[in-house]
Amino acid sequence: MTHPIVYSNIAELMTMKGLQANDGRHVGAKDLAVVKKAAFVAEKGRVVWVGRESRLPTVFRSSKRVDCQGLNVFPGFVDCHTHMVFAGDRVNEFEKRNQGASYQEIAAAGGGILSTVKATRKVSKQALVDLAQQRVGKHLSQGVTTIEIKSGYGLNPQSEIKMLQAAKALKKARVVTTYLGAHAIPSGTTQAQYLESLKRELPKIKQLGLSQRVDIFIEKGYFDLSAAKEYLVFAQELGFAVTIHADQLNRTQATQLAVALRAKSADHVICLNSKDKKRLADSETVAVLLPAADFYLECDYPDARTLIDSGACVALASDYNPGSSPTQNIEFVGLLARLQMKMALPEVFSALTYGGAKALGLEGEVGALLPGFRADFFLSNQSWEQFFYGLGGHDVFRTYVGGRKVFSKK
Ligand SMILES: [Zn+2]
Repeated sequence: MTHPIVYSNIAELMTMKGLQANDGRHVGAKDLAVVKKAAFVAEKGRVVWVGRESRLPTVFRSSKRVDCQGLNVFPGFVDCHTHMVFAGDRVNEFEKRNQGASYQEIAAAGGGILSTVKATRKVSKQALVDLAQQRVGKHLSQGVTTIEIKSGYGLNPQSEIKMLQAAKALKKARVVTTYLGAHAIPSGTTQAQYLESLKRELPKIKQLGLSQRVDIFIEKGYFDLSAAKEYLVFAQELGFAVTIHADQLNRTQATQLAVALRAKSADHVICLNSKDKKRLADSETVAVLLPAADFYLECDYPDARTLIDSGACVALASDYNPGSSPTQNIEFVGLLARLQMKMALPEVFSALTYGGAKALGLEGEVGALLPGFRADFFLSNQSWEQFFYGLGGHDVFRTYVGGRKVFSKK
């Protein structure tokens, strides 16, 4: 892959050039910058040229070719919020909930996050890798090439490290890890004691290169605003980028904290007042919307329209986890964004590419097919107008990460 490769015979190629120019804000169809009868050239895993095939520079005319068979090419999607490394499932809890059990009853019966913690602590690192690698394959088959994965089902030093190491060992996709030791307070300890113990772990996480990012769940019954602030500031002083599970079930003002701390993203952002929305829209913090979780929890959806119309940079992600969002279906996420949050289709594409990339600090690396960007892309027979419409899974023929084929439809 050290020599240039020409990908030719492309019906339509989505470059996302406009999103780079407008920072994924006030997005319209023209920002997707679709090139017809296109070709592009990749070298050493990066795009070096994109344009109409008829304008392919002479220097590449004799390069090796990959025939894209008249299909359409899209930049790989970015899923910037998942909990993809876990063991066990929550099928019994799901059945109980649907038969009328309350969250308190489920928690009292050993359900909830802590039940996944129990299952995840029990298994080996290799078992976690094997489970998660299959899930990565499912994401790749939908054209998702960059996946953020959080820890947070260990809740003790060795299990949290085991989760991060498992995520780091995953192959084929581009994986970004996030340390979410502050996902829940384990039984037998207080918030203050637990956060102190996490602070002692952070230098080690950094030193081992396991994560450059720290996340916390600010919510009633989990972590409160002032304790979270102190913890996140400490993490930032160590050089971590921060992100927050913010204002999901109650308005805790966590979104305002995210903006004040210049967090990479505020995620969920459902229970916001108009001031919160304005501050978020005016900031560099990405609003990460997770509608599949809202669907499963049967709660309100975020006010995407107001956020977008006020100029926010928005991302969509799966929040894939065994409790509140047990689905990897990216088409479903985009469909909910359209149906339930009235996002326009170009806004959905932007949220799954530029928005997700910016939330991870990778907006100059992934989420677009332009010179300098990673050659992460997929081929489909669907035009962009046909995405996020049906619910059988969009048709992906082949997926590439860094110019390497990582998925091919049989
Ligand atoms: Zn989450």
